[in-house]
Amino acid sequence: MTTPPGSAHLKSRPKSAIASPPVSRRRQARLSATLTGALIVATPQYVAHLDARKAVRMYQHHHVPVLGWIENMGPMACPHCGLPVAVFPEVPAARSIRSLGIEPLGSIPFDPALGVAGDSGRSVMDGGESGPARAFQALAETLVRTLG
Ligand SMILES: [Zn+2]
Repeated sequence: MTTPPGSAHLKSRPKSAIASPPVSRRRQARLSATLTGALIVATPQYVAHLDARKAVRMYQHHHVPVLGWIENMGPMACPHCGLPVAVFPEVPAARSIRSLGIEPLGSIPFDPALGVAGDSGRSVMDGGESGPARAFQALAETLVRTLG
């Protein structure tokens, strides 16, 4: 991912990190000792949300503020009509990270452009106006606005 404009000040923040489950509890505890905040990244899957909920509780236990959560592999745009297509079954609200009151910051759609970018080693941001590029740009702007 490229560095979005205006995010230089984020680099100067000491000991901030983005963590994504699953990570072992021991590793999370070690990480927590050095963090000033945590962003949770979860796919829209039941097990991923269970892991994310565990991570939120662990960060809260260690008094690390949870700054929000980002959905990865969110609904893709139908290649025929552009309407969103949920790839995974909906996570029940009570079992979702949403029920913990953690702020949703954005959703990166499931999209073949990400696979192409990954295999070619080129940033998806170089490809113009793909759905993922727009989602990453919107997420970057939200993070700068929220964390700035
Ligand atoms: Zn369609």
